[in-house]
Amino acid sequence: MMQWRIGKTSVSKIVEIEATGGFRFVLPQATREAVLPMRWLQPHFMDENGRLKTSVHALVVDTPSRRILVDTCLGNDKQGRAVPTWNDLHGPFLRDLAAAGFPRESIDTVVCTHLHVDHVGWNTMLVDGHWVPTFPNARYVIGRDEFDYWRDQRKWEEQVTVFADSVAPVFDAGLVDLVDTDHRVCDEVRLEPTLGHTPGHVGVRITSDGEQAFITGDLLHHPCQMARTEWAAVVDYDKRQSTQTRERLFTALAGTPTLLIGTHFAGAGAGRVASDGGGYRLLVAEPGHRPAPR
Ligand SMILES: [Zn+2]
Repeated sequence: MMQWRIGKTSVSKIVEIEATGGFRFVLPQATREAVLPMRWLQPHFMDENGRLKTSVHALVVDTPSRRILVDTCLGNDKQGRAVPTWNDLHGPFLRDLAAAGFPRESIDTVVCTHLHVDHVGWNTMLVDGHWVPTFPNARYVIGRDEFDYWRDQRKWEEQVTVFADSVAPVFDAGLVDLVDTDHRVCDEVRLEPTLGHTPGHVGVRITSDGEQAFITGDLLHHPCQMARTEWAAVVDYDKRQSTQTRERLFTALAGTPTLLIGTHFAGAGAGRVASDGGGYRLLVAEPGHRPAPR
């Protein structure tokens, strides 16, 4: 298991799916010719043929006071997903979560950076034909703007289904706290607005004993977008805004010891931000890595 320490907190990566290639439907600009010169993407984020590696995973942020699951992947048994291989999954995610030391009953907080299909799936699980909360002892922390936008969504059929099977059941169970985009979850963890991918998208800032980390959500999907911040994802709600968000964050983090932990980064999955020509790159941090105090 991959785990990083930030002061008194740990962040553990629980992988649901990793894939190599097949990501152009999200980032069509990232052709092999365009990404192959970015040698630093190998081996964690790209193979030798220029095929991008990606991951769907959850991050457990274990603090002295709260045990927080950030984003809940795709989930099992879900139907009506636009990506064919995301339907009717029967993966070992909950077993892997428990094996890592985090049985689902022990999760007391779930944070959804946004409400897309691959970030809310395990909010619920299928029991006797009904979608029930997977984490019955957790408060589900969701941005109010994000919630309102998807609740009122009628046109994007897949997301209407996603809201119905993975968001509405936890809300109806009274487990959701609708919060502002700069909400403080606990002493070590706060949300930060990182808009553009969706109308209420947030990142997660972790601060403990002078050390810092930042969980991206989908403000970027792949580290190649650090070199080319203007490469917005097809699914970004406001591509100009998401580009501004990437620029702003990487400018602020470049040269600092803050650990950037990617929500869809494959392999080692985290690193420090460095300026690189006109853009940025990721200096990969192997798991267990401790960023130096600022
Ligand atoms: Zn995503």
